Amino acid sequence: MKETQQPESWESAVGFDPHRVRQDFPILKETFRRGRQGERSVPLVYLDNAATTQKPRPVIQAVVDYYEHANANVHRAIHTLGDRATELYEASRRKLARFLGAASEREIVFTRGTTEAINLVAAAWGRTFLNPGDEILLTEMEHHSNLIPWQLLAREKQLTLRFIPFQADGTLALEHLDRYFTPRTRLVAVTHMSNVFGTINPIKAIVAAAHRFDVPVLVDGAQSAPHMPVNVQELDCDFFALSGHKMCGPTGIGVLYAREKWLEAMEPYHGGGEMIRSVWLDRATWNDIPYKFEAGTPNIAGAVGLGAAVEYLSAIGMENIARYERFLTRYALERLREIPGVRIFGEAPERGGVLSFYVGQIHPHDVAQFLDAEGIAIRAGHHCAQPIMRKLGVMATARASFYFYNTPEEVDRLIQSINKMKEFFGNGF
Ligand code: PLP
Repeated sequence: MKETQQPESWESAVGFDPHRVRQDFPILKETFRRGRQGERSVPLVYLDNAATTQKPRPVIQAVVDYYEHANANVHRAIHTLGDRATELYEASRRKLARFLGAASEREIVFTRGTTEAINLVAAAWGRTFLNPGDEILLTEMEHHSNLIPWQLLAREKQLTLRFIPFQADGTLALEHLDRYFTPRTRLVAVTHMSNVFGTINPIKAIVAAAHRFDVPVLVDGAQSAPHMPVNVQELDCDFFALSGHKMCGPTGIGVLYAREKWLEAMEPYHGGGEMIRSVWLDRATWNDIPYKFEAGTPNIAGAVGLGAAVEYLSAIGMENIARYERFLTRYALERLREIPGVRIFGEAPERGGVLSFYVGQIHPHDVAQFLDAEGIAIRAGHHCAQPIMRKLGVMATARASFYFYNTPEEVDRLIQSINKMKEFFGNGF
């Protein structure tokens, strides 16, 4: 049987039926009116999941229930609603600790998302441990979120940034990994899965090398945690950042996992309420971890929604999700490659469901606009990774990205629409 042949039963092949789980997502039933008089109705095909994912009913309901039955501030109110809100918020922390395989929920800090989690490490860990002349090792395939915080810190502290290059196939040049380390290397910060190439980087090997040099590792898990099983203790990483909205959760909530020893040793990030123990006019002492890093009223409803999201994902099974997305990605790649003139960026053997491509000479924005007229949502742009675009010699790419609720039939619609676009643009193609 061909790897991309559809099974008789999705349940037995991948453990769940993607057509059935779609019923949990109200927005996937959206249709759009198209044509001059709006005479044509096209159903939504949502293929922009690397940017943000859609939300299933249990997540939406958890947020509604929180506001209808438990809304209060956490950790401070001496009343029943305050207890309810605190219990829900802390229950979500425990769910996230379990989801990531953390040793303790004390290692889970709620943030606004991956971006804030990385900024937290850059500011708090960097402030505490880095000195002029120190080096941070990044890669050329980082999202701006895992680049700019280090650039800012490098400017402030006179640090040097070094980069592991990526190769033509979208994989990192890791053959002689040790040579990137110098006696001044203090931290490695690397993406688990590229949001441009879909490449899944060998984090365990990178961590093992870094730890041989006694260098901690931060993993940008924005694109991995939603799509594959992640166990931070198995990865052995020191920091791991994720965004709730990329994994069926609400926007404005994410997590920084950090080893307890680092959270204990780091200076706080933001100052304010909640993160203190005792305050005088001229000084203060800090709360226990993780609260020391959660200044101010947190996004309680967001945390509750994210807790519901990881429960939902775990019920489907992260292994099952990864297996299904591998199938869908192989299928989409096979079909895309059949279209003459389509160029795909990223050919890593270990990859997730992010496909960056060019259609002939057509500008990616035109590709996205044409597809939108067909009801298909993809991303076009630099994907917050301008250095990658520069190295590839393009301004932008089109990007289709999948989640477990996408189907082979939706891939077929994408392919049909690209073929239609080819006819539409004629010679320009
Ligand atoms: N890192 C990667 C690899 C991403 O793909 C993204 C978002 O696209 C981010 C970081 C930033 O995530 P957020 O905007 O949710 O903070």
